[in-house]
Amino acid sequence: MSKVAQYLQEHLSGEVMHTPALRKYFSTDGGVFTVTPSIIVYPRSESDVRKVARFTWQLAERGRVIPITARGSGTDQGSAAVGSGAVLVFPAHMNRILEFDGKSGDVVIEPGINYGTLQQTLHTHGRFLPPYPSSMAYSTVGGAIANNASGEKTFKYGDTRDFVKSLRVVLANGEVIETKRLTKRELSKKKGLTTLEGELYRALDGLLEDNKKIIDGMNLNVSKNSAGYDLADVKRKDGSFDLTPLLIGSQGTLGIVTEATIKTVPHNSETTLIAAFFEDLQVVESVIQEIKKLPETPSAMELVDENLLKFIDEHHPNQLKGVVTKPFHKLIVLIEFDNANARVQKKMAKRVTKILTKANVTYVLETEEEAKEELWRIRHSAAAVVSHSEGNIKALPIIEDGIVPSDKFHDYIKACYELFDKYGLKIAIWGHAGNANLHMQPFLDLSQVGDRQKVFKIIDEYYAMVIGMGGSTSGEHNDGRLRAPYLKQLYGEAVYTVFQKVKLIFDPYGTLNPGVKINVTQDDVKPLLRHEYSMEHLGHHLPRT
Ligand SMILES: Cc1cc2nc3c(=O)[nH]c(=O)nc-3n(C[C@H](O)[C@H](O)[C@H](O)COP(=O)(O)OP(=O)(O)OC[C@H]3O[C@@H](n4cnc5c(N)ncnc54)[C@H](O)[C@@H]3O)c2cc1C
Repeated sequence: MSKVAQYLQEHLSGEVMHTPALRKYFSTDGGVFTVTPSIIVYPRSESDVRKVARFTWQLAERGRVIPITARGSGTDQGSAAVGSGAVLVFPAHMNRILEFDGKSGDVVIEPGINYGTLQQTLHTHGRFLPPYPSSMAYSTVGGAIANNASGEKTFKYGDTRDFVKSLRVVLANGEVIETKRLTKRELSKKKGLTTLEGELYRALDGLLEDNKKIIDGMNLNVSKNSAGYDLADVKRKDGSFDLTPLLIGSQGTLGIVTEATIKTVPHNSETTLIAAFFEDLQVVESVIQEIKKLPETPSAMELVDENLLKFIDEHHPNQLKGVVTKPFHKLIVLIEFDNANARVQKKMAKRVTKILTKANVTYVLETEEEAKEELWRIRHSAAAVVSHSEGNIKALPIIEDGIVPSDKFHDYIKACYELFDKYGLKIAIWGHAGNANLHMQPFLDLSQVGDRQKVFKIIDEYYAMVIGMGGSTSGEHNDGRLRAPYLKQLYGEAVYTVFQKVKLIFDPYGTLNPGVKINVTQDDVKPLLRHEYSMEHLGHHLPRT
């Protein structure tokens, strides 16, 4: 491999490294699997990315496959940011805001920019990018695009797909394309190209036409979804065509993003926040359904359960002191309104309090900055679970992102408690009540054979349960290696076959992040399970939230 590294170093302006220490550093991400790369590349420009792709394509044509894995900050929870070949690390150099249009609010960025940095910059212009993940302080926008990330504001504003207008993408052979919605006429023109780009448009359009019925039927009954490839919005009824929604959420398996144009929206920090304290889980579902009927959607509807509060009380007794009191409520839901019109906020908040009173649910309502921050600490205290460890026992991200139809929310919570009970594990739940998207991480010790076996049993049962409820294996964190084996079960054989064909059209030699998302079985990932779990590699990006 050193010959390859040497060749690349001679041709790239960014650094190319392959020391054992660095390869080890990049052999893990935020997930439970490990794959050691051969080379680490720090691309300085799009031209560097093109050269790497072109080089690996040429080698692949001669039968030697060196995978390329794009990497942001490596916070991925499904082990999608590790790979056995060249890992392209974007935050080092390709981390700039290239343009900000004060009029439209559109921003053009390089993929390695830290999400939090972009958000702070946008705030100074009175704007923000709503689908930010809770990891934004230490993750990149490129990673968010590749995962179709979302977060606490998604309930009102949507996910990453709803905000990215166009992309510059390096294809498997090193060609660069610019994606955006094309008219029928523009599509015809593209299809006439003799390049890989032309082939993509021809083959994909043909595939979508041939499988129209299958694709039309692939929509899951969930409010957001990051599993699989999003084919539904590529070709619209009017004949327009856009590769952008497909590339978003594709985890670097179809192309490598080198630039993105993203829309932003006005930011209003003068919000109204209600914390509702539930004693009965059944009531939560009906109250959420009532709130959803309001003419104004809450900008957030987030939850934590009593087990999380007990966990915090046990391990960090001062963290929520004075914010919540014992005995803890079964569930706390934070409901926020951010409408620019204060009167609308007031009206909506009043209607929510009416709904809560009718359901016998106690609550507090805050509009003062400091008091709201205190309440938000309840939800953000989940970070303490994620970073908790007792020796080798760690909170493992293995079943951390399932989402179900909203009318199954109560059944979902109940089934999660039963699953943890069955395995004698302590559970704490937090997440997005409005989206019925829950996060939880069982405490297990990956150095113990018994716990290693439990990992796969729990995974199997949990994903079968979520799929059985008509949900999706991933609301926001995407498939990676972890959830990839369940894609066929989730979408069915016919859709899965279309996914495989999509992958083959974009990546005929399998150089783009192989082992992630598509064509992955449980047997492929089992040997990759780590013997310890930590996110120490994120140490320099702290704080974690
Ligand atoms: C504590 C914690 C909380 C989290 N909370 C959330 C949350 O609220 N919502 C959420 O959605 N996620 C969440 N995540 C998961 C993850 O942090 C996010 O999805 C984040 O956006 C990933 O960014 P990253 O820079 O770390 O990407 P990485 O982990 O480096 O990469 C993620 C994926 O993107 C691909 N990729 C990276 N750059 C490119 C590129 N330029 N071109 C093509 N592909 C690329 C990688 O190959 C990989 O497949 C959380 C993770 C942790 C550890």
